[in-house]
Parts: sequence; structure tokens; C-alpha cells
Amino acid sequence: MITRRRAFLQENIIITGKHVSAQVPNSWQQQLSQAIRDPVTLCKRLGLSSQWLPGAQAGHQLFDICVPDAYLARIVPNDPQDPLLLQVLPTGDEAQTSPGYVTDPLEEADHRPAKGLIHKYASRVLLIASPACAINCRYCFRRHFPYSDNSPSRSQWQEALDYLRNDTTIHEAILSGGDPLASSDRQLAWLVDQLESIPHLKRLRIHTRLPVVIPDRVDDALLGWLSKTRLQKVVVLHINHANEIDQAVIDACQRLKQAGATLLNQSVLLRNVNDSAVILAALSERLFEAGILPYYLHVLDPVQGAAHFDVPDSEARALVAQLRDHLPGFLMPRLVREIPGKGSKTPL
Ligand code: SF4
Repeated sequence: MITRRRAFLQENIIITGKHVSAQVPNSWQQQLSQAIRDPVTLCKRLGLSSQWLPGAQAGHQLFDICVPDAYLARIVPNDPQDPLLLQVLPTGDEAQTSPGYVTDPLEEADHRPAKGLIHKYASRVLLIASPACAINCRYCFRRHFPYSDNSPSRSQWQEALDYLRNDTTIHEAILSGGDPLASSDRQLAWLVDQLESIPHLKRLRIHTRLPVVIPDRVDDALLGWLSKTRLQKVVVLHINHANEIDQAVIDACQRLKQAGATLLNQSVLLRNVNDSAVILAALSERLFEAGILPYYLHVLDPVQGAAHFDVPDSEARALVAQLRDHLPGFLMPRLVREIPGKGSKTPL
């Protein structure tokens, strides 16, 4: 099945990849176009035995595999319990239904006043700037999101932009997706240009995993539009384990900081990935080495297909209590849950 997300990616790569391929052999577009997108290749490249294949194929039918080489290189081969692998390897558990696990766990369908726009909280709105990601995380709360209804063309963005212009209480635009940085720089520069012409907008926030998954995404073209906007810039990364941060990620973060961005991180608490105080402490320490401050530690949103990642609230609270024994306060992420209809995240 060719999903809307994959179709977008192919289209985007074809447009931008052709343009740069002659001069930049390892461009992020090429790396993305060469990402692993099938279970056989993923298992083979990591030396996983054939026992993992049926589950990987079953999960892949529900939500496509996508793993670029730059991320694959941080996964330890021949280790089915590697914490990075567990985030990207589909399993048969994804086909199981669990009570309370639904396709739209945050009820975002109720908060879409215009195509591509989600307005849940006071003073800020979220723009679906891309339906695609550079990696498909198995626990993603938007794994069932109807991107085909929420991927505006330039002319269709006008409705969302008019909504922002007419509401002077909105001070922050959050680029989200998918991963907003999966979009081309030409498109992003245009969108940011539109946003900065709205006088009451002060901040641009970018929720992205791409600088972690493919650090080469933070290239001159991106830094060009990012550094020149008048809006204050916050880049909220998504990193769940210290092993995700290699030197290339640290260098990419330095470039973002030099462009004037404040760097924060949000993680998801995931069974068998980061459900220990020692692992979470190592993550916070490594984030700080990369110039990133821990922001949120989310408990899992109950999205259909991801119940096997859940860590119960009581265990989450106990973990965070232990974490306080390891870390200074400024390296402590806030443990939160997103509850549909609430005006902000709910601390646990
Ligand atoms: S990068 Fe973010 S939006 Fe994309 S699949 Fe992973 S969690 Fe979901």
C-alpha cells in the first residue's frame, strides 16, 4: 500500500533530490530516499534471525517501516533488544487491540479549525507542515492521523494563515507533522515568511526528529531561513535514549544553536527502551552535552497498535522519583500526560 505519507516523501525527494544530487552526494534527501522501507532488508542489515520477520511484516502492513542508514548505524547488530531497534522494528503486537487504545488518542479531530491547523491550547497553534517523517516510530500517536485531509497546498494554507491573522491571542506557531523538516527548505522558507508577516506572532517552534535521525538535514539551506527569521526560535527534538546522540547529532545541534534556536527535548517513556532511572539519567546527561535541555517525559498516548510500549503511571512516577536522586533539577524532564480537552499537558 502506498500511503499518503510515502507518496509525499517520494514526491519531495524527486523534486529536491534531483536538484542537489549532482553536487551533494550525501544530501539528506538522498539519505531519506535510500532509507530502509521493508522488513526483510531491516532484519538482514541488522543480522536478525528469521524469527523476527513475520511480526515485522505484520506490523509493517499497519504502519510502514522507515529507517535511514544514519539511524541504523547507531543500532547494535545482532541484538533484538537494542533500544533504538525497538523503536523502529514492527512487531505482531501492533495488530492486537487493547481496551482504551484508539486511532486518535488526543482527539485532535475536534480541534482543526482549518486544513493543516490544530488549535488546542491558548496562545499557540500547531501547523501540520509535512505528512512525512524520516523515521516511523512504532509508538507514534499520529500513526493513524489522516494526513491526506491535512496536507495543505500553498493556496490552501491561506485559510490557516487567515485564522492566525484574525486571532491576536496567538503568539506562537508550532511546525509539526509528520516531521516538518521532511518538507523542502523552499516550502518551509515560504511558510515561515508568511508567519512572520503576522505581527502578533512572536515565536516559531519546530517539533522535529530529523536532526537526530539524519543530522545532515541541518544544512546551509535550513540554517539560512531559520537564522534570518525575526521570530524567536525553539527547536523541540525527540530523543528517547542516549545512544541516539552521536557526534553528528551534537554537531547538528551546534549548528541549530548558532542559528539562534533554543534546543529542548521531549521523550516518550517506553517499555524496554528507556524505562529505568539509570537510562533516563544517561539520556539527560547526554542531552546536556549536546546543548539540549530535557523538557517533557511523556507517558505513552494510548494509540492503537502501541500498547506493548506502555509503562503504568505508578511505575512512571516511581522512576521519576528515582531519577531525582541522579540529576540536578535543571536536567529533570517533566513527567506529563496529554489529556484530550485539557488546556495544557497534565503533570503526573
Ligand atoms: S518522528 Fe515523530 S511524528 Fe514521525 S513517526 Fe516518529 S514520533 Fe511520529
